[in-house]
Amino acid sequence: MNHSGVPKAIVVGAGIGGLATAIRLRVKGYEVEVIEANSHHGGKLAEIDLEGYRFDAGPSLFTLPLEVDALFEAANKNPRDYFDYEKLDIITHYFYEDGTNILAYADLDSFAREVEDKTGESARKVKKLLKKSEGLYDLTSHVFLENSLHKLDTYLRMDTIKSILQLYKLDALRSMDKANQSFFDDPRVVQLFNRYATYNGSDPYQAPATLNIIPHLEFNMGAYFPKGGIYQIADAVYRLGLDLGIKYRFDTPVEQILTEESQVKGVKLAEETIPAQVVVSNADIVPTYRKLLKHLPAPEKTLEQPRSSSALIFYWGIEKEFANLGVHNIFFSEDYKAEFEHIWQKKSVYHDPTVYIHISSKLNPSDAPQGGENWFTMINVPHDAGQDWDQIIKESREHILDKVSRILKVNVREYLRCEQILEPRTIQSRTSSYLGALYGNSSNNTFAAFLRHPNFSTQIKGLYFCGGSVHPGGGIPLSVLSGRIVGDLVDDVREVVG
Ligand code: FAD
Repeated sequence: MNHSGVPKAIVVGAGIGGLATAIRLRVKGYEVEVIEANSHHGGKLAEIDLEGYRFDAGPSLFTLPLEVDALFEAANKNPRDYFDYEKLDIITHYFYEDGTNILAYADLDSFAREVEDKTGESARKVKKLLKKSEGLYDLTSHVFLENSLHKLDTYLRMDTIKSILQLYKLDALRSMDKANQSFFDDPRVVQLFNRYATYNGSDPYQAPATLNIIPHLEFNMGAYFPKGGIYQIADAVYRLGLDLGIKYRFDTPVEQILTEESQVKGVKLAEETIPAQVVVSNADIVPTYRKLLKHLPAPEKTLEQPRSSSALIFYWGIEKEFANLGVHNIFFSEDYKAEFEHIWQKKSVYHDPTVYIHISSKLNPSDAPQGGENWFTMINVPHDAGQDWDQIIKESREHILDKVSRILKVNVREYLRCEQILEPRTIQSRTSSYLGALYGNSSNNTFAAFLRHPNFSTQIKGLYFCGGSVHPGGGIPLSVLSGRIVGDLVDDVREVVG
């Protein structure tokens, strides 16, 4: 409590989950302080400036923007006074080794027609799959995403009961690949839809077909680009927090979350302890227990769940413009199954990986010098299991350059002007993500949703958890949603303030 009796809440970590949770706590009346180990806010939503090129270091695809807008609305502010975004007309440019090039138009009819024109797969089937995807989302979003899965009252509400009675429709008993194979005849179309498993770091050959909700987010609800780049999302939420009186401390790792009997008491820093009535950890759930809560019994089963995949990213400043590339580009592997077998079973990297290139300068020209493009070039890789990453990086770099040059029919090496690299070891060291996983636990298991850590502690009153490694899962929208759930769980202390 501060001098005027207002309860204090501390958020450990200024990732997008922590920033969002801080807003929700402030709106509930708490005095809020966010304590971050790094010198910047945003966590994985960082920025890189490299010889005149600007890159978003982590996420590049923005879906469900209304979840971010809702933070501003909860604080009675206009989101457009803080940041803005535009809907993409063409979401992704897909390239295949056989020369096929599919444009994923946001407009469903155009996309379905494009698939039919390029592959012969019927437009009607494409639209049917997206309708099914919408149905899955309607069935699951309320139960699995927007509420705590771990509170009895969630299950006692009428709308939840209705959803649960229909859960047999979730298509959870076969893999995403099996479902897509049964839907489509053309392997290129199966591959295109299988790719959505990677949106939460999973394997389409293991993950349940329930993950077919993801295309709905992209096609039916839209893919967006924030003006100025993805980092603007974190920056806008940070500036909202400043306006609401939230305090932020940077370059300050929290060493321990303090508890006494079954009550949270605050946090310990290197040379100080800060008392608080509520503590929310935005740090990955594994180091949260292993480092910050060493004195408590850890939920071993949860912490031992398989982690999601990681990524190897080359930030390349390119001295050329490519008219046939868009904001999001995919160069598919010729053997997707082999690629995923390498990632998940062999814990290695396939010699023909699927390459994703994000070029924000297509919409934000100041991100690259005139006549150039900023290529965020990424492949999916396993999480860190002690592989020889230096060797993998060296080999993958050549494989990627060969592949992209082959498909674009341009020797990309000639236009490379600068380079920076992010890989599983540095993802872990920069954001404390256990094993460098991008999305916490993988969703390969049918029961993964139930095995994620809840947003509250069952042992300690006043202790909560947010961000991509806990319920409802990884990615920007779900990390932001975890903040909404924590906000719903904490006591409303506005009367104390009033
Ligand atoms: P983080 O961003 O990891 O933040 C946690 C913060 O806690 C960090 O700043 C860390 O320094 C801090 N911290 C940890 N321990 C302590 C401590 N002891 N004391 C103080 N501070 C501490 N998502 C999408 O939606 N779309 C995408 O296109 C997408 N692509 C991605 C690509 C890459 C390369 C990566 C890395 C991620 C991607 N993601 C994407 C996933 C998304 O970035 C994450 O799910 C999300 O940003 C997680 O946010 P968070 O708040 O949980 O955690």
